Amino acid sequence: MKYTFYLLGLLVPAYFFALSCGQTTEAGAQTSPTTVAEKPASEALTSYLMGKYDQTKDDRFVTVEKPAYTDRPYMMLRKEAYEAFKNMHAAAKKDGINLRIISSTRNFQQQKSIWESKWSKTAGQAPDPLERARVILQYSSMPGASRHHWGTDIDVNALNNPDFSKGGKNEKTYDWLVQHASEYGFCQPYTAGREHGYNEERWHWSYTPLSADLTKQYLENITDKDLTGFTGSETAVQIGIVEKYVKGINPNCN
Ligand SMILES: [Zn+2]
Repeated sequence: MKYTFYLLGLLVPAYFFALSCGQTTEAGAQTSPTTVAEKPASEALTSYLMGKYDQTKDDRFVTVEKPAYTDRPYMMLRKEAYEAFKNMHAAAKKDGINLRIISSTRNFQQQKSIWESKWSKTAGQAPDPLERARVILQYSSMPGASRHHWGTDIDVNALNNPDFSKGGKNEKTYDWLVQHASEYGFCQPYTAGREHGYNEERWHWSYTPLSADLTKQYLENITDKDLTGFTGSETAVQIGIVEKYVKGINPNCN
């Protein structure tokens, strides 16, 4: 009994103090386990969808083995995507194809570095911000809107389409991927001939057992107004990044 009174003596003033500070929602949330559980979950989801996390401290991610599958350090993927990639890699190898990961998970900060570097370099070619954003968006995402934020998407072997086309050194790689990638859950989101979005990217493949749902979650939870915190972000709403670039993928990947 003595302790009960002691605890009440501490808790009751704390509760009224919280109320008097205008923190009624937070004080109320502390008494309701449901609210406490839901709020961080949705914040965690939107942060993840927009790459606002550190993949090196997230146990859903694993490091891609070097030199087996990549020549680069710090390549990380969601575990499930990596397991599927390893199976695909083994099958491709039997057919004489060597799949090498050259880019994988990139968080918001990493994408911001890429975007802002391109923003500076494109200034001369396209001084107008809207035009400049559209030039960069041919092949690069705004921070917060990249599929690479999810740990489900990879770039393989080279970053140019001619390389994967007739006569290119990755022609056979591309033919193999078109024929077999889907057997391992991988799909090419940026195909030729789409109405909106990034240009064709023959090197970019997505693990759809995870990414199809993440695309859906992104479209339900993120708007252009959420894309802030980097140079040129003011163009996101006018361009319609979510509708044109996030949604504008190969429908087979959904
Ligand atoms: Zn990519």
